[in-house]
Amino acid sequence: MDKINKNANIQNNKRSKFLLHVCCANCLLYPAIALSKDFQVYFYFYNPNIHPEAEYIKRLKYIKLVSEIYGVPLIVGRYEKKMWFDRTRTLKSEPEGGLRCELCFKIRLEKTAKTVKKLGFDLFGTTLTISPHKNQAVINNLGMTISKEENIKFYVADFKKKDGFKKTIQLSNEHKIYRQSYCGCLYSMTNLRH
Ligand code: SF4
Repeated sequence: MDKINKNANIQNNKRSKFLLHVCCANCLLYPAIALSKDFQVYFYFYNPNIHPEAEYIKRLKYIKLVSEIYGVPLIVGRYEKKMWFDRTRTLKSEPEGGLRCELCFKIRLEKTAKTVKKLGFDLFGTTLTISPHKNQAVINNLGMTISKEENIKFYVADFKKKDGFKKTIQLSNEHKIYRQSYCGCLYSMTNLRH
């Protein structure tokens, strides 16, 4: 069962309800501020790719902290790590940015879209495009394809533009948010970034 953490002090009920897939606390800090001007934003943490479980729990802990600081409700999806490993197994040797990542984005966006329909949101989007390591065209094309399949709106964005990545890192420093050294999955642990 999905969980909802209800905080709503920056929300305006007259605006469209936006389910924002969030990959980590650092990535959501700036997009959440930008989107909350126009939408009633809810965070959706669905990241079965994150390995090991201790790292998943740590990233979720900081997402909860941002949810409380910003007063944005948080919905937590299931940690379907076995499903993720099963679906990506044949792509484990792919380089970061390759076919495994495309499938990883797809798994997370599809579940977000299904949650939009299940819970009655108006549209969905993701913070994934804020990362300079991720291809916004791949992510946005997937989002638009899923949007057509599910007949729901997808918010096309490239949050890294207009200094978005710089702004989110500044906010991360201000709030003393934990910054991970790898993307998330077991296979990316050999590709440490710092
Ligand atoms: S490197 Fe990142 S985006 Fe690619 S499969 Fe692993 S967790 Fe997913």
